[in-house]
Amino acid sequence: MAFTWHEEAKMGIDFEKGGVADVGDGVFVYVGPDGDSNNGIVLTGEGTISIDSFVRNYAGLTAALERVSDRPVRFAINTHDDADHFSMNHFFRRQGAVIMASEACRSRIETKMRMPSWVEDLRRRNPALAHELTSPEELVPHVGVADRATLKIAGERIELLHFGHGHCPGDLVVNVPERGVLFAGDLLFAGVHGRLKTADIDSLIAMLERLAGIPCQTVIPGHGMPVKGVGKQAIDIYRDYLVVLRARITELIGNGVTPDRIAAELEGWKYGNWGRAELFPVCAEHVYKDVAWHMRFSLDNPAQIMTRA
Ligand SMILES: [Zn+2]
Repeated sequence: MAFTWHEEAKMGIDFEKGGVADVGDGVFVYVGPDGDSNNGIVLTGEGTISIDSFVRNYAGLTAALERVSDRPVRFAINTHDDADHFSMNHFFRRQGAVIMASEACRSRIETKMRMPSWVEDLRRRNPALAHELTSPEELVPHVGVADRATLKIAGERIELLHFGHGHCPGDLVVNVPERGVLFAGDLLFAGVHGRLKTADIDSLIAMLERLAGIPCQTVIPGHGMPVKGVGKQAIDIYRDYLVVLRARITELIGNGVTPDRIAAELEGWKYGNWGRAELFPVCAEHVYKDVAWHMRFSLDNPAQIMTRA
């Protein structure tokens, strides 16, 4: 079945240029250009909540924040520790925001910010703002959430939920139940391929089942267009994407196909028409490695798997 619903829901946004999607009820999403990360903006009577930020798109997100509210950011939440989801923390911190993440994510950012190579990499993401990154520890979240936390702000309940290691060890989702909006971070890609370098595929699939059980109208994926009105459908589709991909790759490994040939073998597969096609070979390789790891056999000799299976 062709994946078409996201085509109808682009909210006037040019995929290549990105832009601001108004998903209603005081919730906005700065959609990064070319499938870069989505940055959420939730307006409340006590100031703004920002969810994820990427320093490469500093200008776009800053303009979006200024356009929708003149209040400062009170809370900045990171859904995980990839650079495209936390790299403006220092700017929000200087505004007085409290930075929050899962504890696994918080400690991973802390470790990364002690590594000069990581800090240099962040500086390169936006050379014009490199001089701002003077104290890497400014990017380390103030608060680490073990499993779940509730924010009560302007009388409204907002839930921060950490279900474990899916896309990466520190995944956090942000549920805004009174507005029917769920920010899924990179646990969810909608209509675009994405890297799965640190993903545990089995756990990610199980986690998507849990996510689909959270009542919501609108879901904001880590990458791809926000999905309005049919949030659960988007989660189910990405779960199916992973289930199909895992099954096909398991089969290919069984047939002795080597990682470099996996993407070619999968040409024309069920979700082959998704955007960011250039990322698919690396995504397929990540799934290959995870599947092979779970099979506990050497990647150098896939034939072994066939004989032992
Ligand atoms: Zn991302």
